Amino acid sequence: MTLADHVNTLGQDLLRRHGQRVHKLALNAGFSCPNRDGLKGTGGCSFCNNASFNPTARAIPPLAEQIAAGAAVVARRTGARRYLAYFQAYTNTYGDLDRLAAQYWEALAQPGVIGLSVGTRPDCVGPEVVDLLAGIRDRGYEVWLELGLQSAFDDTLARVNRGHGFAEYRAALNLARGRGLPVCTHLILGLPGEGPERALASLQRVLALGVEGLKLHPLHVVRHTRLAWEWRRGLYQPLTLAEYVHTVADLIEQTPAEVRFHRLTGTASMDILLGPAWCNRKWAVLNAIEAELRQRGTQQGGRLTQVDAKTRACG
Ligand code: SF4
Repeated sequence: MTLADHVNTLGQDLLRRHGQRVHKLALNAGFSCPNRDGLKGTGGCSFCNNASFNPTARAIPPLAEQIAAGAAVVARRTGARRYLAYFQAYTNTYGDLDRLAAQYWEALAQPGVIGLSVGTRPDCVGPEVVDLLAGIRDRGYEVWLELGLQSAFDDTLARVNRGHGFAEYRAALNLARGRGLPVCTHLILGLPGEGPERALASLQRVLALGVEGLKLHPLHVVRHTRLAWEWRRGLYQPLTLAEYVHTVADLIEQTPAEVRFHRLTGTASMDILLGPAWCNRKWAVLNAIEAELRQRGTQQGGRLTQVDAKTRACG
C-alpha cells in the first residue's frame, strides 16, 4: 500500500484532474516579509532563519531560470512535464500589485507551467490580491492560495512572534472563499507549548471555516533563530518521530476526504538544521505515517464525527 491509499494527496488529485503528473516547483521570487522589514516587526518568527534575509546572500536567479532548473530535475526523477509554479519563499503577496502580477504571469509563461500556488501570511492578503489570483484562475489556470497559519491559537502565535492572529487568517480565508479560490492552510506540529490536543484543535478550527488543502510539518530548529537559542537552553523540546507520526495520523483521520494534503512533513537544509534530526529523512517519515495508518486500518476522514460534520456545515 502507499500513502495515497489512505490520504487524498494533492499529487494524486492533480493526476486525476489533469490526466498526467503535475509537480510543484518551489520558487524564490525575491519577496520580503513584513515581520522582518519593520511593518509588523523586525525579528521575524522565532523559528525562521533570519540569515536567509541577509542582503549579501547570493543573487536570486530569474524565475525562468529557476523553473527550467526545477523542471529538469523533476522530469529526470518522475517524468512529469506539467508544473505548478510554487511561490514559496517568504511572503509572496507582499508587494506592489503590478509587481505581483508581473511575477505570476512570468512564471505562467514558462513551458509546462499550468498554474500557481502562492504562499503567504494571512495578514498580507487583501481584496486586490484575491482578485488578481481569482482572475488568473478564471483564465483557466490552476491556482492555490497557501496561508501560513501554523496554529489557530493566538497565544502560540504571539509566543513564536508571528505578528498576526487567527482573526487575520479568518479574514483572508473569507476573502478567498468569497471568490472561490482554493486555500491550502499550513499548520506546524510541535510549536512551543503545543501538544497533540492543540494540533487537533487547530485543525478543527481550520476545518470549521472550510479549507480545500492542508500542509503539515514538524517544527524545525534551525541555526540563527530565537528557537535555536531556546532549544540550546532546554526551553524547547522538539517532537520525536513517534509523536509526530501519531499526531499526523490523528489529524488525517479527522480530516474530511475531500480536503487535499499538499504535504505531510517537511525539512530544512542540512547546513542550518539543528533538530529534530529525523525530519531530514522525508521518506522515512512518510513511510512511518503510512505504516501507522495501515496498522490502524484507517484512512483520511476515518474518525470524523457527526459533531465535526455539523461544525463544518455551520462554518
Ligand atoms: S516564517 Fe515567514 S512570516 Fe515568519 S519571519 Fe519568516 S518569512 Fe516572515
